Amino acid sequence: MRTPVVAGNWKMNPATLPEAVRLAADIGHLARDLPSVLTVICPPLIWLAAVQRVVGVGPVAIGAQTMHYEERGAFTGETSPLMLAGIASYVILGHSERRQYDGETDEAVGRKVASAVAHGLRPIAAVGERAAERASGATESVIDRQVRAAVSGLDGLRDSGLVMAYEPIWAIGTGDAASADDAQAVAAQIRAILREVDPAGADEIPIQYGGSVTPGNAAELFAQPDIDGALVGGASLKPDLFGAILQAASVSAAGG
Ligand code: PEP
Repeated sequence: MRTPVVAGNWKMNPATLPEAVRLAADIGHLARDLPSVLTVICPPLIWLAAVQRVVGVGPVAIGAQTMHYEERGAFTGETSPLMLAGIASYVILGHSERRQYDGETDEAVGRKVASAVAHGLRPIAAVGERAAERASGATESVIDRQVRAAVSGLDGLRDSGLVMAYEPIWAIGTGDAASADDAQAVAAQIRAILREVDPAGADEIPIQYGGSVTPGNAAELFAQPDIDGALVGGASLKPDLFGAILQAASVSAAGG
């Protein structure tokens, strides 16, 4: 019922524009025959427009890795939703690296999500607990706080375009992915919170899992009832790996 969304977060990679253009072209090729998956690539901001020209009107959508919630103003180094219009259709918000290195707060994530929706962008709102929070049994309360904050500025979920991403921080870039059961349990918690917020709209929201997704674990993750795709870091820079993850999402969407 929900179309899986598989998004590649390139972070601050690759190092040159020719590499970025080649990577986008390769992924465009791989995504061509997978209409049952929404494929998104999120290159560094400086290359969004160039990469968008490469993937054109094909099957790959473009996402930004962050944005400001204001339309304009004295915010050095920032990018507004108006600037993304016509270039990106998705935007990752609240990624743990933005929270950790750029002081992005729950409140700011909520404002950004609302601003993205108001400007016709699909937010990919990332939430997830740290290793210490997991160890102390705080995962549920962290997720509860972050999810409620992320959607706090929305009037409703129906037709919002919102995508949620559960990304346990201890699993990002470590090779230590959450088990499919654990990821499903948190995705189900996120779904339950969304149902409280908007019973009519919650079931249409895709919930991605992110954190060391590979071709080896993708199929089991995508088989979970509340997991609808993935936010992929490292493997999204390798077309063969990202292509295999897209294939797994396609098979899962076909009921396989
Ligand atoms: C991420 O940074 O969003 C991520 C999931 O990274 P990786 O796939 O490399 O763990």
